[in-house]
Amino acid sequence: MVWDSSSKFQESWDAQIARAEHLARRNDASGELLTFYAKLLLAQKRVYEFLRSREGWLPSGILEDDLRVVRAMMPELLRAVETNGPAALVEQAQILLRSPDEEIDRMLLEQWRQPADVQFFAKAFLQPYARWLADSGGQPVDRIFERVESRCPFCGGLPQVSLLQTKEPAAESGGRNLICSTCLTVWPFRRVVCAHCGEERPAKLGYFHTPEYDHVRIEACDACKHYIKGVDLTRLGLAVPLVDEVAAAALDVWAHEHGYTKIELNLVGL
Ligand SMILES: [Zn+2]
Ligand SMILES: [Zn+2]
Repeated sequence: MVWDSSSKFQESWDAQIARAEHLARRNDASGELLTFYAKLLLAQKRVYEFLRSREGWLPSGILEDDLRVVRAMMPELLRAVETNGPAALVEQAQILLRSPDEEIDRMLLEQWRQPADVQFFAKAFLQPYARWLADSGGQPVDRIFERVESRCPFCGGLPQVSLLQTKEPAAESGGRNLICSTCLTVWPFRRVVCAHCGEERPAKLGYFHTPEYDHVRIEACDACKHYIKGVDLTRLGLAVPLVDEVAAAALDVWAHEHGYTKIELNLVGL
């Protein structure tokens, strides 16, 4: 975990991979998911490193122009899924590996302009691009989005996971942050507010967790019936929010059974 001067944090790819591998070894119900997720994170890291290490090139933030460079890494990510993914994704990866560049470009541009959490390949591939765009000081030029508190201030993406930490006890947000599902930027968010509709009445906001995952909870809203998972780093400092969110898959089952819709599905489709 890296803290910069503004007290934001961002997990390194390596920290995420190591955490996914560690949790996969526990061999519980989410073991298979996490084994795949670790391989996917490794493929994403390679995309990121490829972009970052490219001499004399920085992303323009206009994806249509950047694809010239970026698309070269798509086959690698597809092959990683083909080798390690669940059957349904393997088949899709094989189809995409045979698709012409124009088709892949169209898929990526559509996802960039109108993100959808069910577009697994486009979402997984664009995360390292968007993260490098943010890390390298660029701006998402051709992405039009609403500037609202519950959306990523950098790219307008929906929050993937909420996290609580105490590094900045005086922070206005009470130490709560959201992590963007598109560019993985972390931004502060008020503690007792729905991350989807902005509901503030405590009676409408519910929290649920099971003893199995003491540091992960469902943060549900009865006004809009949406939920997000929250990872409490004050309870488990070793947790890596994006990964622990995936590992606590059992909580998604609970939320769906109780009629809640997730704000943004994670990369393993839960
Ligand atoms: Zn973002
Ligand atoms: Zn709500």
